[in-house]
Amino acid sequence: MIVIFLDRDGVINKYPGDKLYVTSLRKFKFLPNAKKAIALLTKKGFKIFVASNQAGVGKGTYSQKTLDAITAKMLSDIEKAGGRIDKVYYCTHRKEAGCLCRKPRPGLLKQAAKRFKFNLKKAYFIGDTMRDIFTSHAAGAKSILILTGKEKLKNQKNWEVKPDFVFKDLLIAAKFLK
Ligand SMILES: [Mg+2]
Ligand SMILES: [Zn+2]
Repeated sequence: MIVIFLDRDGVINKYPGDKLYVTSLRKFKFLPNAKKAIALLTKKGFKIFVASNQAGVGKGTYSQKTLDAITAKMLSDIEKAGGRIDKVYYCTHRKEAGCLCRKPRPGLLKQAAKRFKFNLKKAYFIGDTMRDIFTSHAAGAKSILILTGKEKLKNQKNWEVKPDFVFKDLLIAAKFLK
C-alpha cells in the first residue's frame, strides 16, 4: 500500500492567498485537473489522505461546522469524478497553541500512519508551500512540490528546502507516480 498525502489549499482547491482562508463553501473552488488527478491516483491504487492546516477555525474566522460542510462537498465532488480520499486530517489550532499537528510538524501524517499502519518512508506528500516540504521531510516521506498554489518556480532561489520532485500541477504528479 502506497500512501499519498495531499495538502488542500493550493493543491486541490485554489490558494486563497497568504494568511487568508477558505471561509465558506462558496469560496472553495477546485483547481483545474485536481479531481481528474485524484481519480487517476485512486485508479492507480494509492491510498489518499488530505493533511491541511486550518487555523482559521481556532481563530474563529470560520466555524468547524463550515469546515465540515466544505469537506463533505469536496469529498462528494471528488467521488463523483471517480476519486476517493480515505480520510481528511486537519489541524485547526492556532500557531500559538504549540500543538504537534500544525504543519510543518508531522503530527497529521503520523496520526494517519498510526491508524492505517503504513510506513511513512514510502509515502509521498504533495503540497504547494515550503512548509509542506518541511512537513514531509519531518515525517520521513518523499516530498513533491506543485506550482498551482503559493510557490512559483521563479522563487526557487529563496526555497529553504529542496523538494524531491517539482511538478506543474497535481495531474502531472499523478501521471508520474506509480
Ligand atoms: Mg497549501
Ligand atoms: Zn494542531
